[in-house]
Amino acid sequence: MKKITIIIPAYNEEESLPLLYDRLKELMEKMNNYEFEILFVNDGSKDKTIEIIKDLRNKDERVCYVDFSRNFGKEIAMIAGLDYATGDCVVFMDADLQDPPELIPELVKYWEEGYDDVYAKRRSRKGETWLKKFTSKMYYRVLQHLTKVEIQEDTGDFRLLDRRCVNALKKLRESQRNTKSMFSWIGYKKKEVLYDRDPRIAGTTKWNYKKLIDLAIDGITSFTTSPLRISTYISIPTFIVLFVYFVYVIVKCFVVHEAIQAYQAIILLILFFSGIQILLFGIIGEYLGRIFNETKNRPLYLVNEYNGKKEMNDEK
Ligand code: UDP
Ligand code: MG
Repeated sequence: MKKITIIIPAYNEEESLPLLYDRLKELMEKMNNYEFEILFVNDGSKDKTIEIIKDLRNKDERVCYVDFSRNFGKEIAMIAGLDYATGDCVVFMDADLQDPPELIPELVKYWEEGYDDVYAKRRSRKGETWLKKFTSKMYYRVLQHLTKVEIQEDTGDFRLLDRRCVNALKKLRESQRNTKSMFSWIGYKKKEVLYDRDPRIAGTTKWNYKKLIDLAIDGITSFTTSPLRISTYISIPTFIVLFVYFVYVIVKCFVVHEAIQAYQAIILLILFFSGIQILLFGIIGEYLGRIFNETKNRPLYLVNEYNGKKEMNDEK
């Protein structure tokens, strides 16, 4: 029997979890030709989330959990889920039931047809402000513009991944993660499924605009170092202006026999030195970018316990 792991990052979700579990239980009863693992990643919740998860675990062996030592953020919770998942495929889901579990059979159907990455694309987003929808759209545009790999629009993290996608994603261990772009980067056979995104069932959203902006900047800078190139780009026109002005002054001096004025010399010097400075910043930026890309060596997260066992965090 094939095993499906449902990965659910949870941060202060005490109100949603019982409802979520009921919906998942129904689903698992319907899909009884599969084995299931419900893997919660408790991302340092400050409420009773972990107690509720432990209660569920006592009732139902299929419930597993990874308990973080503190809040590491959803992106990190997702990679931890991949590390601990034991299934032949995994499904990412939010704890707040915004992603309807009833869509999972359809995702699985396409997986059985041979797709590796079946992602759910939002047809509508209920209960979200136009500002959030608008900024999210612009963000996709910008990210798409800056990177060479294709990025799926209006797609959250609700998706099914085959084991080989899981293994591929586990190899990408940078600490400023932007999982959305990683899904695109790994490639493999993708399939889109449309769905209506529901409003959050209970509790409040953990996102605020600062978090979203941080995520957006991480998304851009983790994918490309092109913003660092700005200096290099600015220095080029500066040098062109310098050169043209230099030629103009020299010609005036030697052809028209007009003495160089003090202000002309000053302009030349300013152009020359500011050009050099901007260029040097650009070069430093380029190297900084390389270093930045090579130094992501910390463990991504620390685990307090896994399914009741204390973790020593040796290998991950
Ligand atoms: N989440 C998390 N760590 C965080 C913030 C959020 O694991 O630091 C989880 C949260 O419990 C939920 C999912 O990520 O399962 C999506 O969060 P939320 O619903 O608040 O975001 P939104 O749907 O509003 O974008
Ligand atoms: Mg939500």
